[in-house]
Order: sequence, then structure tokens, then C-alpha cells
Amino acid sequence: MNPITLTIDLEDPTENYAPNGRYVTMARQTLDLCDALRCRATFFTVGRVAIAAPNLVKEIAGHGHEIAYHSHAHVALTEENPVRFRRECRADKFGLEQLAGKPVLGFRAPRFSLMPQTAWALDTLREAGFRYSSSIMPTGLSLYGFPNAPRAPFLWPNGLIELPLPVGELGPLRVPYLGGIYLYALPGFATRWFLGRATPREVLWTYAHPYDFDTQESFAPMPHTPPWISLALWLARRQARPKIERILANGSAPPLGERVLEPGFAKDLAIYPAQAKSV
Ligand SMILES: [Zn+2]
Repeated sequence: MNPITLTIDLEDPTENYAPNGRYVTMARQTLDLCDALRCRATFFTVGRVAIAAPNLVKEIAGHGHEIAYHSHAHVALTEENPVRFRRECRADKFGLEQLAGKPVLGFRAPRFSLMPQTAWALDTLREAGFRYSSSIMPTGLSLYGFPNAPRAPFLWPNGLIELPLPVGELGPLRVPYLGGIYLYALPGFATRWFLGRATPREVLWTYAHPYDFDTQESFAPMPHTPPWISLALWLARRQARPKIERILANGSAPPLGERVLEPGFAKDLAIYPAQAKSV
């Protein structure tokens, strides 16, 4: 089976970026979980977190995890202003690098909102110096998605590497199965079935949020999210920790930034045109 990298999207679902917000407590608990799993993860960090809680970012980097970028304020690219995005990308990348003490190589679009109509962001990311993106769902089953994009890593025409969300095939459908609500909701045998069918070329990664592990917090609707999705995410929280522990029980792969820097990784990747007529 392909090894799996743990990725953490570090944002506050309530958008309350207080220096000692609940996201800080939960991020620290996530660090403890990583230690228990002997796992080094990639933390896709929102710029507002770095500004509000710089010591948290230093702490995460100090544990040996990769710091990557998850936009300034967790606005989906479909709602984003390209000029503001460019300015914030540069400033936040610089700020995160100061805190992490190393280059920030990776970007993940909020809600995996890199789609054919938001492909304008690719050149901004490349110009800002990002090496890879982990921003697409290669499926038509999601509100956001790049339905016909490859399932294995590929290059955008400007040389940026894309590491797509892992999806499994069920007849004509491509089904996300390895992260977030998909992982928490699917029965374990289905996850194992899809994992057993992953091709060697795929880079497998799972994703979770620190708040996914917060089973103590009472329900509150999330901003910009339909109420039933908020409720489903909240109800799924009790599954988060056991599911993550189970899929990483036999070890985990290094952070994504280390995987893309492995010798020869980018050499054989196919180029996929950003403006694909896939919708
Ligand atoms: Zn996010």
C-alpha cells in the first residue's frame, strides 16, 4: 500500500482569530496526536493564524512538521479578489517563512476551490515561489472540483506541481475517501477497499482540521457553510481521531514538501493544461 501523508488544515471555523482561540488549543492537541503516531505532517496554515498566534506556528515547525500556506483568511478562490490574493500570498508566505525558519513550498486552496474557473491563481502561486499545490478535487461529485484532472500528481503548464486529493473509482464515479468528512463517514472496509486500489503513481494524503478532534465543543453553524453540512461535520468529529489513527497505524509518509523534493519526483510528471474543458 502507498504510504499516506497526514496534512492538517489550520484555520478557525468560527473565524475568531484571537491569540488564544480554541484553534490554538486544538492545534496543540493535534501536535500531541502527531507525536503519538510518530508522524510528521504538513500544516496548511491560514495567514491570519500566523499573525494572531505566531508562537503556535513556530511550535509546529519546531516539532519537525512542514509549514505550508492555506490562504490569508480562508476565502474560497471562487470568492477571491485576484489582486488582493496576490498581495496576501506574498506577504503571508514571507511571514510564515520567518516563523518556520525555512521556505514555504506548498499551497492548498480553501475548500479545494482550485477549479477551471479559478485557474488564474496558478500563475500567482508560481510567481510567489510556491513549488506545489494540493488544491484540487479531481471529481465531479463536489461543489468544487476539477472533474477530469489526473488522479496522480501532475504539472501545471507553469511548472507548479499539483498533488490532487485522493479519489477512488466506483464505476464511473470518482469518490473522495481519504480525508475529512469522507474518511470519517465511510465505513472502514470501504476506505481499505479504495486504498487497495490506489495506483503506485498516486501520492496519498489525508487531511484533517484541529477542530475535527474537538469533541467537547457544542454545535455552532460554520460561516459560509450550509447548516446541514455544518451539522454533519460536527457529528463526524467523534470519528476523526480513531479514523486518522487507523489509517496511519502502520506509519506515515513524510510531509508533502519533502516528497516533492525527492530526487526525480517532478521529472516524469505529465503536464495538464490549466484551462481544460472539463466542466
Ligand atoms: Zn481549510
